[in-house]
Amino acid sequence: MRKIDKIILHCSATKEGQHFTVEDIDRWHRARGFARIGYHHVVYLDGSVHKGRDESLIGAHCLGHNATSIGVCYIGGLDAAGNPKDTRTEAQKKAITGLAENLKVRYPNAKVHGHNEFAAKACPCFDVKKEFR
Ligand SMILES: [Zn+2]
Repeated sequence: MRKIDKIILHCSATKEGQHFTVEDIDRWHRARGFARIGYHHVVYLDGSVHKGRDESLIGAHCLGHNATSIGVCYIGGLDAAGNPKDTRTEAQKKAITGLAENLKVRYPNAKVHGHNEFAAKACPCFDVKKEFR
């Protein structure tokens, strides 16, 4: 397995309440020239967690940090007008916390980060440091 020192959280940058799947993101990312979906895990609106790219493979989600990280994406992140917003449902919040805890057991050296710590982006549209450190 790769050395993992970061769990990086993302949003799908889709509008609040709209359901999208791993297959949708896989299609969007292939259209951008990636081999397949760039995230390792995707959290749907109902809190279910779905597998994207295999964890053993380097992701495509955070420039400069892909080699040693796991990418997690929740569906949402924009309000109805398309502006950044923390749109996480209660089920998504619970699922992200549970998934991060599970990953930290398997990758004890990993810390949880938001994409916006590494790029001039709003993603994942909530304060990861406040919730996870
Ligand atoms: Zn992101």
